[in-house]
Amino acid sequence: MTRAPALPRAAAALLLLLGSLAVRAAHVDLDITLDPIDRTLAGTATLRFDANERRSFALSSEAVVEHARAGGREVPLDGKARDGRRVYAIPAALNDRVVTIAYRLKLAPLDDARDHRRVLAALPAMTDAKGSFLPAGSGWYPEPEADFSYAVSISVPASQRAIVPGKLASETESGGAYRARFEFPHPAEGIDLMAGPYGVRERIVRIGDRDLRLRTYFAPELGNELSDDYLAAVERYLRLYSGSIGAYPFDGFSVVSSPLPTGFGMPTLTYLGAQVIRLPFIRDTSLGHEVLHSWWGNCVYPEYSRGNWAEGLTTFMADYAYKEQAAGSAAREMRHGWLRDYAALPNGEEKPLAAFTSRTHSASAAVGYGKAAMMFYMVREKIGAAAFDRAIRAFYRDHRFKRASWADLEAAFSKASRQSLAALFDPWLSRTGAPRIAVTHAAAEPAASGWRLTLALTQDTPAYRLDVPVAVRTATGEEVLRVPLSKARDAVTLALKEQPVSLAVDPEFQLWRQLAPGEAPPILRAAIAAQDPVIVVADERADFRRAADALGKVLLERPARIAEALPTDAPVAILMGSPAGIAEAHTQYQLGPVPEEMKGASTAQAWTVRRGSQTVLVIAAKDAAALAALAGALPHLGGQSWVAFEGPRPVARGVWKAEAVRVPVMLPGGN
Ligand SMILES: [Zn+2]
Repeated sequence: MTRAPALPRAAAALLLLLGSLAVRAAHVDLDITLDPIDRTLAGTATLRFDANERRSFALSSEAVVEHARAGGREVPLDGKARDGRRVYAIPAALNDRVVTIAYRLKLAPLDDARDHRRVLAALPAMTDAKGSFLPAGSGWYPEPEADFSYAVSISVPASQRAIVPGKLASETESGGAYRARFEFPHPAEGIDLMAGPYGVRERIVRIGDRDLRLRTYFAPELGNELSDDYLAAVERYLRLYSGSIGAYPFDGFSVVSSPLPTGFGMPTLTYLGAQVIRLPFIRDTSLGHEVLHSWWGNCVYPEYSRGNWAEGLTTFMADYAYKEQAAGSAAREMRHGWLRDYAALPNGEEKPLAAFTSRTHSASAAVGYGKAAMMFYMVREKIGAAAFDRAIRAFYRDHRFKRASWADLEAAFSKASRQSLAALFDPWLSRTGAPRIAVTHAAAEPAASGWRLTLALTQDTPAYRLDVPVAVRTATGEEVLRVPLSKARDAVTLALKEQPVSLAVDPEFQLWRQLAPGEAPPILRAAIAAQDPVIVVADERADFRRAADALGKVLLERPARIAEALPTDAPVAILMGSPAGIAEAHTQYQLGPVPEEMKGASTAQAWTVRRGSQTVLVIAAKDAAALAALAGALPHLGGQSWVAFEGPRPVARGVWKAEAVRVPVMLPGGN
């Protein structure tokens, strides 16, 4: 993900009126010293405002302003409190557009007990010898209210290294201090600063006609071998996307380790949790996603007030593309996963894609990542890969360092394919929900040559305009047809060579749609995202009950109600206990036999089971410690139906088998 602003600013609304004009903005020049031991920051900020701009800036309420000067004179400052910061307006009478502010600030200690969900919320500026993160928007420097370019000189103790997004202009180490200067000449909404006891490794690579500086800023315990693997992987992604989209827009790229479980893509760098960096699959998945944000999100900016397309396009061109390269079945599984995640959402949670800005919980992720990625898939299906690629290159060329909206993407795809795509884009962006497609009639009769198949499909109203893939099984094989469906009910007659036997609607999951019950096996996400979850603990031990309560708080997005027995009216319930207690409860509540996959010797198991219309998440753990150990990984496994754990480590996982809905074809004489 990129570091999306929590709230689209007034500036974003103003830019909407300006269309995609490049905006010359303010400039910020910072010269700061950070001391992670004393937790202090002191510095001077020089703000240069554009003639037409509102001259104001926001700074932490905790900051002490030592002086503010313009044209050699003191500027009287009167700040108004807003969201933990003070917003200062420069008096209009002042002619000088350059203001210098000297300030100091005591920073908060590092809170590295934050879980992944809490790092998605707005973070305060935090510092510690083992790592500092001073996020944009936290008030660690005077931040103009409109976009700005910047240069930052940072000084930290010699044992530390510090970085902000931008081009490394210089670095020195002398007198017990490390100093570096970074320059960012493009419009930015804020500056994130990272520091830590990093070991820096570097590789200069030539891509196209430019030399790029690739670096890792890794915590010492991560080691050189891992650094080299990351540098090689970053180079591979930069070559891949420079070739397929257009030249990389910056001078370098760094992978920076974090003591927090972050996964942020910023211009010129990604800030990844040290624990995450160690995971072997990250180089093949998340790293590519974050590098691709250098194009989508950090060079072409989403017009947030009209919806963030950057996560969907990045998911489609990174995570999904890697599955396609691996195998067709892996790509199908990912599309199915997007639809399963969507099916697991509680009713009424969903917002239209045009209202998505950034991921805050399951409902926003299912739409902003899954639905958006599926939209790009459907667009490519419609216009073909060649036109899709042309559109992507043109979109990038025309919108570098500018804001762009879904409408700009639609225009690029329409132009490249020489057809209007409004009917495809409008409903998917503006509506919530998804079509539920059913076959109401399927009959065949022999024709002069081959067979004639009559087919009626239905969907809810208002109808979407769809080309529904229908796989027809014949005596000798399978034929896939595209059947148009633009009304609540549409009937078509199709010619087939062979006698049809049965058919299935969209068995490859190529449409954004509601899955039929048999296609949507229950997954952990149903419990994680539940609106009103109920927890039942089938164990009397006090420490086990405490562990169950604590796990519920980390795992679930909303507070759970505790009950003594499984209620029948709740759509989602969570049942926790020892393996013996769970086996008993399975019988008591008629949950069927404990699945074979869950009977191993592992320390804990979690699985979903349907009980009528209720989804039950069952968690069996041998003791309180085994239950508590699930808090780290289980919240990340929402897409699974079952997981077995050895301590904190998931050792086996899976999704219950989904059955495609097959409809038999009626033949003359009736069968
Ligand atoms: Zn992303």
